[in-house]
Amino acid sequence: MSRFFKNWEKSSTDVGLFVAFLSRCVIFSSYPAMMQRGKKSVLIAAGRFGSLFVVFLLICSLACQGARFHWRRHICWNDTAISIKAKPTDSIMVHYTGCSGFFITKGKNVLLFDPFFSYNVALRSRLISDKRKISAKLANEIDTVFSRAISKTRDHDSAISALIIDHAHVDHIGDIPYLLDKGYLRKDMKIIGNTTAGHYIRGNVGEDITNIVDGAEDSAAAWLSEGKWIYVNGHTRVMPIVSEHGPHIKVLGLKISFASGRHEMKDRKRGYPLCYGTGQTLSYLVDFLNGDSSVNFRIYHSSASMNAPNGFPPASVLAEHGVDLAILCAASFNQVHDHPNSIIRYLKPRHIIFSHWEGFLFSSYAGVKKHGWKNFAYSYRKLFKRVNHTLHDLNGKNGDISYSIPNVDTRMKFYY
Ligand SMILES: [Zn+2]
Ligand SMILES: [Zn+2]
Repeated sequence: MSRFFKNWEKSSTDVGLFVAFLSRCVIFSSYPAMMQRGKKSVLIAAGRFGSLFVVFLLICSLACQGARFHWRRHICWNDTAISIKAKPTDSIMVHYTGCSGFFITKGKNVLLFDPFFSYNVALRSRLISDKRKISAKLANEIDTVFSRAISKTRDHDSAISALIIDHAHVDHIGDIPYLLDKGYLRKDMKIIGNTTAGHYIRGNVGEDITNIVDGAEDSAAAWLSEGKWIYVNGHTRVMPIVSEHGPHIKVLGLKISFASGRHEMKDRKRGYPLCYGTGQTLSYLVDFLNGDSSVNFRIYHSSASMNAPNGFPPASVLAEHGVDLAILCAASFNQVHDHPNSIIRYLKPRHIIFSHWEGFLFSSYAGVKKHGWKNFAYSYRKLFKRVNHTLHDLNGKNGDISYSIPNVDTRMKFYY
């Protein structure tokens, strides 16, 4: 069992319970005054309620600060090495860049998933594709991430083999026009994503994007149907898997998904975050191959919480080689039945990384990197309780499957 989880579970602050307790205190303290008759007593009650509410807000903000510091201790804060085999002979580098973004580097092969850095800028204004909205600080952050991932800030020399997109929401695709425009990504690079994503990229950047694999969903496998491998080069291949995007929030028992549509009309220029529909959500299997074409290392990447059997690769493909590393989504886990337990039980990966945990809508990239602001809409303690239970069943007492939660811009080197 991962040591990260143990630490996390021991000291997480349950802000939800704390807030509920305080709100009850405020209501009960005002109740006797409200029960008396007359305008005066109503005013006293309102005043008392108001002042207590201010105190309540102050205490809440202190509670969030406390939670922040608890959080800070228990994510994978610095670059880390993890061994997932008893006597490792090989290694792979996994670099978490925030939301579902990852650089995955094996030898000279670098794959980039769902890059997104503009965080709250995307929420409060037009997108990063509007270059005026890029602050010098954020541009600097992007430089840092790329130089750590590919040893330089721009990709003029084909360092990145392919860009892979799981779905077309703004936090998975919104920065791609900026990255292409500024030379972080090459305009002739291989881009694999769904039809909607292809239309957004062409619409925002123009027709000189020449190497999009249009409609990766056409090659997608599902639990009971075979798919097609898309070869990035002789050493790397990816297989899209039909998946699902769980709802974002639940209000009075009603599950709500934002921007869940598809835009399959060509070349759509997007302006605002909620204009970006998901398209067909995909997960991916990624194989790094040996010289004899056998699988050296297999990664499963998903970007959303999903109901089983969405996101399940065909059993025949897993029989050929199991999943070495599964990247799973933490956000919205509680809006979906049995996520991520179903997919963990099905894949039985050697190691799991939980991504998309941060509160990107209300924080800057630098803020999350420094303070580890998490998304307070979800109680991750519950998530890890679920996972702990499942791994206990799968692992028995000695434990084989481990997992970790990296901070943004953190590299993890896996030895296997
Ligand atoms: Zn999404
Ligand atoms: Zn997302």
